[in-house]
Amino acid sequence: MSSRQPYLNARLQGFGTTIFTEMTGLAIEHNALNLGQGFPDFDGPESVKEAAIEAIRAGNNQYCRMAGLPPLAQAIAAHQARFYGLRYDPLSEITVYSGATEAIFATLQALCEVGDEIVLFEPYYDSYRASVSMAGATPRMVTLRPPEFTYDPADLEAAITPKTRAILLNTPHNPSGKVFSRAELEHIAALAREHDILVISDEVYEHLVYEGEHLPISSLPGMRERTIQISSSGKTFSFTGWKVGWTCAPPAISAAIRCAHQFITFCTATPFQHAIAHALGLGDDFYGELVADYGRRRDRLCTGLARAGFEVLTPAGTYFALTDIRPLGYDDDVEFCRMLPARVGVAAIPPSVFYEGRHEGRHLVRWAFCKSDPVLDGAVERLQKLRPAAS
Ligand code: PMP
Ligand code: GLN
Repeated sequence: MSSRQPYLNARLQGFGTTIFTEMTGLAIEHNALNLGQGFPDFDGPESVKEAAIEAIRAGNNQYCRMAGLPPLAQAIAAHQARFYGLRYDPLSEITVYSGATEAIFATLQALCEVGDEIVLFEPYYDSYRASVSMAGATPRMVTLRPPEFTYDPADLEAAITPKTRAILLNTPHNPSGKVFSRAELEHIAALAREHDILVISDEVYEHLVYEGEHLPISSLPGMRERTIQISSSGKTFSFTGWKVGWTCAPPAISAAIRCAHQFITFCTATPFQHAIAHALGLGDDFYGELVADYGRRRDRLCTGLARAGFEVLTPAGTYFALTDIRPLGYDDDVEFCRMLPARVGVAAIPPSVFYEGRHEGRHLVRWAFCKSDPVLDGAVERLQKLRPAAS
């Protein structure tokens, strides 16, 4: 938590500057290899880039439909049917935003009354916590505990109160790499049905699963009508800077979220929506190679980190791996990550900032493997310097 900022309202006090900005700043300052912030250091498919350039040349440069370009909404509907057998009406149930970040923000703004409670699993993606506060809602935490990042079912049951508006779920999960099991999703779904609450399900890493399978909670019985499924093109197509995300939700919920979205950004960049409409229709070979390629990067980094002396918690999904830093003699992730760029020329993310109680994640560090092989290998090489000299 940072010191009090004089002009900032009470809802945002204490959030400071996000850890991604801080760690990428240190990486630039020290010319470090950046395994911190989760963005690929390579571009997505050429044909997708060409589609964006073509859309600009063809004059698609003005505002588009507020809820999303119709061909993109159709492509999202086709993707939902193709991968999950889920049917969504493109015009009334699919909405496009400037990234999943805006989708989450707009959803919480639209659905929460001041004083409502949102159940979050910690560690959480940092924008959740701030978006809950900005919506005037209160977070209720359920802690995922290593090594498997399972939660105690009693904790989730106890977190639900008469004020609960929604459970905010993230699977595959950042930063742990956990893929929620069918049994866990069934438990969450049963509670949502029993207490008549919504589920906001952030599935931006839906295509990055190496063990098990991605199961949208909306595909479970009685859940389609109470789930807001969120995804983003950034992770799947390696264009995080384009910021094209979306929600799939029943018409009445979509109408509510659109009410917020129209006053936040109104619509998102038109040419990029054209390009992502093309991208979603890429063949099975693209999706197969994506996961195979990331699986190789995962193994390369995890093997290297283990060689450097860390205890590695191999992720089942996402493009992040957590390690325990205690075998190398460290026990404070924030100190460790602030020291690392200057000392060895590598940047990483301290996960304790994604918990309410910092002690929970203090012994862990997150490393992104959405990076090219020389960067992964170079980082592992540099990390060897951390080994105690005598060993
Ligand atoms: N959710 C999760 C779990 C993320 O890790 C991220 C960012 N990497 C986002 C949402 C934000 O996605 P976008 O860049 O589309 O806003
Ligand atoms: N979600 C990305 C990560 O976890 C970062 C997004 C951001 O910088 N806000 O690294």
